[in-house]
Formats: sequence, structure tokens, C-alpha cells
Amino acid sequence: MKRKEFIKKGLFGSFFLSVGTSFGNNVQSFSKPGGYRPIEGVLSPTNTHMVGDGFKVMNFFPNGKGFEERMSPFFLLDFNAEVNFPPSDIARGVGVHPHRGIETVTFAYKGSVAHHDSAGNTGVINPGDVQWMTAGGGVLHKEYHEKNWDKQGGTFEMVQLWINLPKKHKMTPAKYQSILHANKPNIQLPHNAGSVHVVAGEFKGLKGIANTFSPVNIYDIHLNANGEVDFNLPAAFNSGILVIDGSITVNEQTAVPENHYVQFANQSGAIHIKAKSKCILLVLSGEPLNEPYVGYGPFVMNTEDEIRQAIQDYNAGKFGFLADN
Ligand code: MN
Repeated sequence: MKRKEFIKKGLFGSFFLSVGTSFGNNVQSFSKPGGYRPIEGVLSPTNTHMVGDGFKVMNFFPNGKGFEERMSPFFLLDFNAEVNFPPSDIARGVGVHPHRGIETVTFAYKGSVAHHDSAGNTGVINPGDVQWMTAGGGVLHKEYHEKNWDKQGGTFEMVQLWINLPKKHKMTPAKYQSILHANKPNIQLPHNAGSVHVVAGEFKGLKGIANTFSPVNIYDIHLNANGEVDFNLPAAFNSGILVIDGSITVNEQTAVPENHYVQFANQSGAIHIKAKSKCILLVLSGEPLNEPYVGYGPFVMNTEDEIRQAIQDYNAGKFGFLADN
């Protein structure tokens, strides 16, 4: 496929996003029990679509339902809930494509994914690991199931999160952080409740491992059945939790089943979680950028002119070179 066609067809959809802060229809509101941070809504799993031939994802945001910006600086949340891939001799995934203006962060829960980019970074992530790619001013990358994993096939579960870069860091040089599960700073919770692994930001004074361009907290929480945890996130930070596996009760009254996403109001109050069953949760919390943005396929910039520039630079080969498989 020629570069221009790629941009036109847009592997990632070709859409200009509007700014909005309202919710979709599948969101309910809940009242506030004493002291807890109010829940703004619970998003149900969406229909799935394929990204390349390797990722079967539901898109929680931006989703075009007015949720855009509500989780700023987090721009996109794609969840490949548990799915079985049969064995394949050809690695499945997404071929070479560009990004500018964001960071793409991939969380592996089941299965293995290999990353290669035009800045020369490569890596394989296995269950529990995180690959954190800063596209910044521009990079080409490809994302495939790890070859040997794909030969065997099996259960696959991944998240891809896009974090929008602040205006002043949009054109930062491309960078790659490989975060192994064992290297995430973690806290074992009392009463054998489980553990909290701090990917970014801070949990009760424990600092996360990732370097970030704006203040965010990202936790990988593993709870045993009936395990409980509570914590506070800054009231002004956009905050939510994706239930990867298992199911939970939040703030003692709201059931959030597997593959659902709970969004908190931007108000103070503790968040209390009790696991109904053994679970894995992804907690996202970040300071809103409060900057204008324009998203177009794999590019997220501040103005339409910058998007045009990104397309022009990409077509001129300024994003470097990366061979496809
Ligand atoms: Mn990508």
C-alpha cells in the first residue's frame, strides 16, 4: 500500500474528532455513598473490531460518543479481551505504520507481542509486561504477535492505551521503555488481598517505573477473591478503572463486571474496591491537558495544520524507515 493510500484508508480509521465532555447512552449515574469518590458511570463492553489481523479490540474511548477528552491525557483505550487465536505460521498483527504526538502503551495480560520501530527499538512483551513507546515527533512501528507464540496460538489478552503528549512535548524524540512485570514497584496488600504494581505515578508513596510527560498514575492491580483495596487519586485527575479479568464491587455499592470500565467523577473521595472473584484491574488517572487537539488516524496534534504537516512529513519519508515482515 502506498503511503498516501495508507493515510487515506487509515488502518486506524480516518476521523477528525470534535471536542466534547458528555457521555454516551450506555452510561448510568450513581449517587455518592459517604466519603467515596462518586462514580460518573460504567461503560459496557463495546462491539469488537480487528486492528490488523492480530488484535480483536473493543474501543472504550474516544469512541465518537462524546467521551473524547473526558479521560485526557489518555486519548484512546482499546481492549482485546480474552480471545483464542489458533496456531499460525505467519505472525499476526499490525504492519508498519506511523505515529506522531502521542505515546502508545501496550499492556500484555495473555500472549506475547513483539515491537519494532524506526528508532531502532525492539522488544517482546509477555504477560504482565508493558511496552511504552513515545512516538513524539514521529516514528514508524509494527506490532505483531511474537513469532513462536503465534505458531502455538492460545489465549490472548492485551490493552493498548494512547497517551496524548502535552503541546510542548509533541515533537520530543521517539523513545521506548520496556517494562517487565517483575520490575514494577509493588505493594503486597494485607490479609492476602493481592498486590498493586505501580506502572506510573505513585501509589501511597511508592513511585512507578515509567517516565511520563504529564502527571499520570497507572496501576496494575491483582486481587484475590474477596480481596479489598482502597486509595485516593487527585480529584482533578481524570480517573477510571478497566476490569480486565474477574469482577469487582466499587465503593461498596456498584458492581463492575469483567470487561467493563468505571469512570469516576472529578471529585475528592476514596476509591474502594472489593473483588467478587480473582481479578486484574487497570487503573488510569491523569491530569487533563486542557489543550485543543485534533486526532487523525495515528496522529494526535493540537491543530489541523499540524496534522497536515504530519501527513506531509510522513509522505516525505521523514519518519524514518522500517522494513515490514
Ligand atoms: Mn501503533
